Amino acid sequence: MSDYNILIADGLDERGQSILCSSATVADKSGISADDLLKAIPDYDGLIVRGRTKVTASVMDAATRLKVIGRAGVGVDNIDLEAAKKHTITVVNAPMSTSLAVAELTFGLLLALAREIPRADASMKQGQWLKKELEGVELSGRTLGLIGLGRIGMEVGRRASAFGMNIIAYDPLISEDDIKQRGAEPVSIQDLFAWSDFISLHLPLNVQTRDLIGPLAFSQMKDGVRIVCAARGGIIDESALLDALNSGKVAGAALDVFGQEPPGLTETVSHPRLIATPHIGAQTAEAQSRAAEDIANEVLSALRGGSLRWKVA
Ligand code: NAD
Repeated sequence: MSDYNILIADGLDERGQSILCSSATVADKSGISADDLLKAIPDYDGLIVRGRTKVTASVMDAATRLKVIGRAGVGVDNIDLEAAKKHTITVVNAPMSTSLAVAELTFGLLLALAREIPRADASMKQGQWLKKELEGVELSGRTLGLIGLGRIGMEVGRRASAFGMNIIAYDPLISEDDIKQRGAEPVSIQDLFAWSDFISLHLPLNVQTRDLIGPLAFSQMKDGVRIVCAARGGIIDESALLDALNSGKVAGAALDVFGQEPPGLTETVSHPRLIATPHIGAQTAEAQSRAAEDIANEVLSALRGGSLRWKVA
């Protein structure tokens, strides 16, 4: 009989499941409802989630034997870290696994915005030939402003440099020297808004960053700026973005993440100059396999009292 019971709440790639099954009894209850999670959680030593499941204080109050929560990915904004600390439940994530996938999606969105690729494709499928209307812009020679220059921001910057873009970055938690070493020119957030032709967001959602990109930020940006967000919903104020798209201040925007997910067919989502993707940043076969492997090893290590590489709380 295995020593540990582990609950998987949001699915986990096969590679991770087989690592877990070698040392634990694993229940794959992917898609479990909030109510059912509350009922089930007292039986488990470990819980593995992605972004869907909200691990609230009530879940932790009910989790009498829970020792570890693993997030198969990066963002832990769906886990109440204060409650985890209170209950001495360890929280670990797999921060290295998905960076390349998100950076590549971001780059795809930058190109899609510059050349209106989704609109070009949709028009062809309606039998149209919009060759003259579909005049885009080039990335080469343009300034890309990165807000947040951690793992993903840095990878986006590298790819943008290869495309001949000038990279500027605002990241208050990294020294100017480190920003330069990561291939970007350090700037204030106001200068980033004023100078960028393209802006891409790669920072966490927290109380300081919620609605960071709101009416004031848009008013400080260049006319015709293009914006990508594959970080977290809530960092961009979506109704302010809609106003900025309608006024033409923002020439185009691409969102992979939304304040509410799924967002439904809101005015922002259906705007003709907005490209929307359903939070697919980390959705590559490679990233999911890496995330599953990393989190399975980390959760087992936490249960055995071993050393941890990615302890969040
Ligand atoms: P990271 O921790 O490596 O980098 C985040 C950077 O943001 C850090 O360098 C930090 O100093 C900086 N930062 C913090 N507060 C800031 C602020 N107020 N202004 C500017 N910069 C600030 O994280 P990462 O792995 O690069 O992830 C970046 C974002 O991408 C996170 O929001 C994460 O949740 C998100 N993400 C999205 C997907 C997706 O599917 N779309 C997948 C993975 C990660």
